[in-house]
Formats: sequence, structure tokens, C-alpha cells
Amino acid sequence: MKQENLKKYLTHPVFEHLRTTVNQTALPTYVVGGFVRDRLLGKPFKADIDIVCVGSGIAFAESLHPLLKGAKPITVFKTYGTAMIQWQDLTLEFVGARKESYQKHSRNPIVQIGTLEEDQNRRDFTVNALAISLNENDYGALIDPFHGMDDLHAKILRTPNDPNITYSDDPLRMLRAIRFACQLDFTIALPSLEAIRENAQRITIISRERIVEELHKIIACDQPSAGFLLLEKTGLLPHILPELCALKGIEEIEGHRHKDNFYHTLEVVDNICAHTDNLWLRWAALLHDIGKAPTKKLIPPTGWTFHGHEFVGAKMVYKLFKRLRMPLNEKMKYVQKLVLLSARPIALVDDQVTDAAIRRLIFDAGDLLDDLFTLCQADITTKNPKRFKRYHENFQWVRQKMEAVEARDAIRNFQPPISGEMIMKHYNIGPSRPVGLIKEAIKEAILEGEIPNEKEAAWNKMIEEGKKLGLKSHEK
Ligand code: ATP
Ligand code: MG
Repeated sequence: MKQENLKKYLTHPVFEHLRTTVNQTALPTYVVGGFVRDRLLGKPFKADIDIVCVGSGIAFAESLHPLLKGAKPITVFKTYGTAMIQWQDLTLEFVGARKESYQKHSRNPIVQIGTLEEDQNRRDFTVNALAISLNENDYGALIDPFHGMDDLHAKILRTPNDPNITYSDDPLRMLRAIRFACQLDFTIALPSLEAIRENAQRITIISRERIVEELHKIIACDQPSAGFLLLEKTGLLPHILPELCALKGIEEIEGHRHKDNFYHTLEVVDNICAHTDNLWLRWAALLHDIGKAPTKKLIPPTGWTFHGHEFVGAKMVYKLFKRLRMPLNEKMKYVQKLVLLSARPIALVDDQVTDAAIRRLIFDAGDLLDDLFTLCQADITTKNPKRFKRYHENFQWVRQKMEAVEARDAIRNFQPPISGEMIMKHYNIGPSRPVGLIKEAIKEAILEGEIPNEKEAAWNKMIEEGKKLGLKSHEK
């Protein structure tokens, strides 16, 4: 079959400079990988471009660099035989064509100089092995020895090599397969899927940082459920997120059933993705029910209960982040807090709900209030249209009530109307326990609605508490 010329994809000014360098160096050079794949799929222009040279990729990059005015200094990774240049909004990666051989214990191959075809052959998927020539004799020609174009049209991920060897050599490719399937809406070829299942256990030789990188990319997809279902189906999930696996299954005892919290969770994640790009809010959706597995209990006649699952879940978030070597920073705390609060708004869906309960949630959620509501609305997965409508209306009602309370009491970014300094000055005392007790009493009184969120009322409350504590004013 005559291949169409793909010059039309090489319109960025960088390709003129690449072409000049090819002529100067006489190194046969090709664009390869994600750039080619995504252009052929009609996706937006990709800012990272992989270049392969038959010869030294580093030497090629060094010849190109002076042509790219204003480029950052070139980065050379001698051990890997690669180089990287950042120019304008582009990241260019250079590698010499190579063939690779692997040893059992490591995903780092022994590398030898190879031909273009050998280099394409070592790549993970045929659609990632497509190359476009930058050479004068066939500039723009597609080089496709492994029929990547057919797979691209059929939306299939297939390995150029025997899949069993491919995944065993570098088990990270199993996660890449699933991530690409999810990102591109592709199917993993059956032999590949079987090979992943067979090699799932080998994922344990991959660093947790690399695993998390792929997880982030799956969670950033429009429909992460596709990725998680594949992780589950291939047996990778227990090695990565056993907490999610534990949510699987429906138990039925004496007519009491509960929903399958694994599939429910995946629905919640998909739902939330339609409303937010915030990766950490998506993580919170993924983990919001993990406390349900260890807290599950059948209490007749009520049925299945998950008492305290939010507290247990929030603790599990910390352990999970730690195990996956994710930073234990404010992002982790954000996820924890959302998991902890995830069941609170639903408890307010009640005519009898007090303003105090509303104020407490506003206070506890603080800046996370909007995200908490986004999470709770995504949590509505009932298939009953009437109920679906009712639940959403209920949340609207709670929201309105919150807005009314907030407009009146300004709890959201709560600043105590009486500060610690004022208390210390009034009683002529230093930082001490009574100061904390008085501040807490004022806050509680405001949240409970005993006093308004105002200075005068808070001052009177301070005097009242001061008396109880036996404090005497030193102010005139
Ligand atoms: P994206 O950048 O959108 O994630 P990509 O295909 O460009 O997709 P990269 O990780 O940037 O992915 O890798 C560039 C290319 O290098 C891939 O297209 C593939 O050809 C090859 N490659 C990357 N990682 C591996 C791997 N673990 N095994 C085999 N080939 C790989
Ligand atoms: Mg890339």
C-alpha cells in the first residue's frame, strides 16, 4: 500500500531546523512516538516531540541547539545516550536508534546501537512505533514496519514484540497499556491483555513513583473507570490499590444487600470528572468510600452499616499515600479532609436540620465547601430517575440554606471576633490554657447560635467565661 506523505504534520518551525541539521550532520533522523500518534489521531499539537537518529542522538542535538535561538541549555543524559532541548513551548527529546536486551530483575535494559527498525521494535506499542522521516530523500514519509497505522485505525494497542516478553521485560508497559487505552479510548489486543494478566505480579519491580505517575494520568482521563476496570480485570489492582479491591462484591445475608462499592466508586469518579479537572478532587472521589470495607457490618433489622467509615477512610488515605510514596503534604490533607467530610452534607438533608449543624459544616469544610458539594453530587449514582432528581433537589436545598446562613453569620473564613491578643491584654496574662479555653468557648457559642458572630456579643461571652475561670480584668 502506498503510504501517504505526512509533511502536513511537520508545520512547526522546529521542523525546518531539524531538516537543516539532518543535512548538516548526515544522520538519518525521524520523529517517533506520541507526537506522530497524536497527530495521526487528529489530536491537538503535542508540545513534546521524540526524535530518533541512526547514530548519536546527543551529537544531533548538539548540532541542532545553536539553530534554536533562545533555547535553554541542552541537557545531556550520557548514561542513557539521550539529550533534551527546551525551545519555546516545545520539549524535544533525542535518542540514538538502539536495540535492548533485558535481565529478569530489572526494567533497565542493556542497550546496543541499532537500526531504525530495531529501535521501533523495542517500543511498547505499534502505534507508538510509527516514525516520520526527516531525511531529504523521503521527507515526511511514514515508516511503519509493525503496521501501527492499521492498529491506529482499529484503535488497538498491540506490542511489536511477543507481548509476554514485552511486559515481563518492562512491567511498567502494562500500566502504560491501560493508561493509553483509557486516554485514547483504545482496546488492548487480546494476547496483550492475557500477557498482562500473566505478568501482573511483576509490577512489583516498578518504582512506586512511576506507578503513581501512570495512576495520575488515568485519573486525569475523561472516564477513569475504563482504566480502573482494566486494572481490576488484569489483576494489577491488588498490587497497586488493594483498598479499592476490598470494596468489591455484594453481600446478601437474610435479604439484606448493599451496593457494590467498587463499581459505585468508579461511577462517582466518572461523574466528578465531568465537573472538575482538579486531580486531587478526583483522587478524593476515588478514595471517598475506602473506609467502607473495614467498617462493614450487618446490623439487623437496619441492614448493612458502615459506621465511622469516613474516619477510618481518612486514616487509610494517609497510609495509602505513604505506601505509594506520594508526598504527605497539603494535597494529602485535602483528600483526607474531603473523605472525612464526604458523608456530612447528606446528613443535612432533613427539614429538621438546625442552623447550628449548617454552621458547623461551613466551619469544618472552610475553603473546601464547594469541592465537598461537587463530590457529594457526584456521589449520587442511583439509577432511579425519581430518586436521582430528589437527591439533587435536596442538595440544592441544603446549598440554599447554607448560603442564607453564611450571608448572615459569615462563618466560612471564620476569624474569631475576639483575638487571643485581646484576651491576654484584658486579663494581663501570657499565652496560656485559659486563653485557648475562652477562644474555644466563643467559637462554640457562635457555631451553636447562642451568640451572633459579632464583637460585642463575643466580648460579653469572654467576660462570662473569664469569671468562670476566676480571671480578673486588668484593663481600666
Ligand atoms: P505521552 O507523552 O502522551 O504520554 P508518548 O507516547 O509520547 O505519550 P512517552 O512516555 O513520552 O510517551 O514516550 C515516548 C515514546 O517512547 C513512546 O511513544 C514509545 O515509543 C517509547 N516508550 C516510552 N516508554 C516506553 C517503555 N516503557 N517501553 C517501550 N517504549 C517506550
Ligand atoms: Mg511523549
